[in-house]
Amino acid sequence: MPLKIAAAKERAAGERRVAIDPSIINKLKQLGLEVLIERGAGSAAQIEDSAYQGVTLIDSASNLYQQADIVLKVQAPTTEEVAQMKAGSVLIGALNPYNNLELIKALRDKKITSYAMELIPRISRAQSMDILSSQAAVAGYKAAIMGADLSTRFFPMLTTAAGTIRPAKVIVIGAGVAGLQAIATARRLGAMVEAYDVRSATKEQVQSLGAKFIELGISAEGAGGYARELTDEEKRKQQEELAKHIASADVLITTAAVPGRPSPKIIPDSTVAGMKKGAVIIDLAAEGGGNCSLSQPGATIEHQGVIIHAPLNVASQVPVHASEMYAKNLLNFLTLMIKNGEYQADFNDEVIAGACLTRDGLVVNETLRKLVEGA
Ligand code: NAD
Repeated sequence: MPLKIAAAKERAAGERRVAIDPSIINKLKQLGLEVLIERGAGSAAQIEDSAYQGVTLIDSASNLYQQADIVLKVQAPTTEEVAQMKAGSVLIGALNPYNNLELIKALRDKKITSYAMELIPRISRAQSMDILSSQAAVAGYKAAIMGADLSTRFFPMLTTAAGTIRPAKVIVIGAGVAGLQAIATARRLGAMVEAYDVRSATKEQVQSLGAKFIELGISAEGAGGYARELTDEEKRKQQEELAKHIASADVLITTAAVPGRPSPKIIPDSTVAGMKKGAVIIDLAAEGGGNCSLSQPGATIEHQGVIIHAPLNVASQVPVHASEMYAKNLLNFLTLMIKNGEYQADFNDEVIAGACLTRDGLVVNETLRKLVEGA
């Protein structure tokens, strides 16, 4: 009997992605797996059941979970979903473990082997499995589109019989995966783009996309290619200097993050007060509280003529391609563990071990084990 791999419709409010999209079905079958899909699993992404060729369509999530040997998810399952899963099965998804300690306990107690995709080490070999990168790229693209949509101005320069229109000025703060995609998209729409990041390594990347790099003389390279948190003095200098640039922006897109920390507050009220009327802020860091002190995560507000948009789960707003990229990341991860149709996880592999949360009734991630035991 082949192992059964399954995806149900996501239960989280507003989630439109699906963990298995039609593009990976043949690859899953080539791995020797039988694919089960809940009817309507792709409906929020407008992916019809008929697009899933060669799979077994199942009428309800509980029926699907009772059969599945391996469950793929976009967001963490509810405890109700975990209760329906088979003891000893495998779960892979963006499990958001630091905010889901009760879920980890439930997975441990049910002896489910669970993998949190966001814990995969960000080494070169694992780039094709990196959901943080793939979904950040989607969000960065969409942020530029949102900025253009909410703006009172055109992005491109237009030369028309009715006069010449100057291009919009877009400033992007944080030039990681999302920021670089926002820069590229805003440039394609014809805006003048400037960008800033505390990691000096980003200067060349920003310039290669045709944007101007804002130099503030603060360098904050941290471990593993990430930024470190700034000192109070550095934060003050950064805010003051950036405010001068931001005063002339039509659209400001903020994407700055420090792993494991709340989003750094880079745009205080005073910077917003200095912005042009009709300017737009797209705060992509809203998930971590936002880079702008006035942002209200999940809401759009207007403050003294400036629109501050702080969307959550932006990747879900481009559900077809976000699902396609996410599913491909999962497939690449699975390929490490499925040999001749059998599940054979090698825990000496740092990618597999790094992502593993629970196994054999234990929380195997040290940090999370301590948190779960303390909770
Ligand atoms: P992230 O989402 O953690 O942060 C976004 C950006 O915000 C980063 O570029 C960071 O430097 C910047 N930032 C943080 N604090 C700031 C501040 N106070 N002011 C301005 N900018 C600030 O980062 P990310 O996009 O997930 O990844 C960052 C980098 O990690 C990538 O560009 C890359 O170099 C590396 N990376 C490596 C791999 C891999 O090898 N598998 C995969 C993804 C990313």
